[in-house]
Amino acid sequence: MIQMGRNEYLKELHRVVIKVGTTSITKGGSGASSDFMDSIARQVKALKDKGIEALIVTSGAIGIGLSTMNARSRSREIPIRQAAASIGQSVLMQKWNDSFQKFGIAVAQILLTFDFYSDREKYLNLRNAIQTILEYKAVPIFNENDAICVKEIDAVFGDNDTLSAMVSIKMDADLLIILSDVDGLYDKNPKLFSDAKLISAVNEITDDIRASAGDTSSKVGTGGMRTKIRAAEICHEAGCNMIIASSDVENVIERIISGEEIGTIFLADKKERKKSRWIRYAHASGSIEVDEGAKKALAKHVSLLAIGIKAVTGRFDRGDVVNITCGGKIIAKGIPDYNSDDISKIKGLHSDKLEEALGHKNYDNVIRSENIVLM
Ligand code: GLU
Repeated sequence: MIQMGRNEYLKELHRVVIKVGTTSITKGGSGASSDFMDSIARQVKALKDKGIEALIVTSGAIGIGLSTMNARSRSREIPIRQAAASIGQSVLMQKWNDSFQKFGIAVAQILLTFDFYSDREKYLNLRNAIQTILEYKAVPIFNENDAICVKEIDAVFGDNDTLSAMVSIKMDADLLIILSDVDGLYDKNPKLFSDAKLISAVNEITDDIRASAGDTSSKVGTGGMRTKIRAAEICHEAGCNMIIASSDVENVIERIISGEEIGTIFLADKKERKKSRWIRYAHASGSIEVDEGAKKALAKHVSLLAIGIKAVTGRFDRGDVVNITCGGKIIAKGIPDYNSDDISKIKGLHSDKLEEALGHKNYDNVIRSENIVLM
């Protein structure tokens, strides 16, 4: 538990991501609730008037699409959900547009897939686009591009809680607010235990917290408390505060920003640098297996030398992110200064033999310490 008031943590907000869950959007019905969306638009306008940028991650496309299609009975089938997401998304954006228009604000639709944060070029393109959208005072509204994300090919976020955490950390938000049908994190499941207590602040996500998360998923949204805790972990490690609160609380966003103790705040670990965050969450293009000696050296934040490398898998260029494994277990991730072909030729060699093996030697280290993140 922390002693400081919420104000202390929310003092210098520049950019806030607001994630709105399906049950909040539909308010228990099958269509989008205009009143609720109007209230979010009004509160976002209030943030903007204070100079705080707002980004929205919206769910609700599948829920709205299923009811438009009258397809509730087949709602678990992936192609049906994909069709529903596509049909529902256009209705959803129309509604957001209507709500924001009342406050003179334009909205921008951004549909993301898994690789937005693992492919550096895509990520930088996205950042530029978002930056420009914000410069034009519009509000970016994100959702997953469900029509092309299928679990089988491992290209799915699976839930908008995780997506909102990734958007927050990759777009350098100071705060993620997850609005949902739960009031926050309880010490036990409040639906089962009447004496369950709401936890106001979480400094660190422990196994106890993971265990108390249980699950509270609805049928149409995919998120439960477990995915929210996962989102909190991502935000915590990357230095972004996160709050879970009920969307039923009146003026919830404005009141949170003004420091009212609403919901549960998960406090950020402010230590990690921007590059480290990027490496940690980037897709790995291959892996480098190292020996025990190298493993010990890495733990002391020393660079990775060729001599400690036993094997290379996958094809990657210098500058790509790779997993560093020992005994097959991922111990770190890093950005090598040599490509996979070169590393195959120099693995196990002393640094003074690299030139002989390659015909050139650009670097002594295969991965410099500042480009390594321990996992
Ligand atoms: N992308 C899904 C939708 O718009 C939501 C996923 C989720 O609720 O986490 O319906």
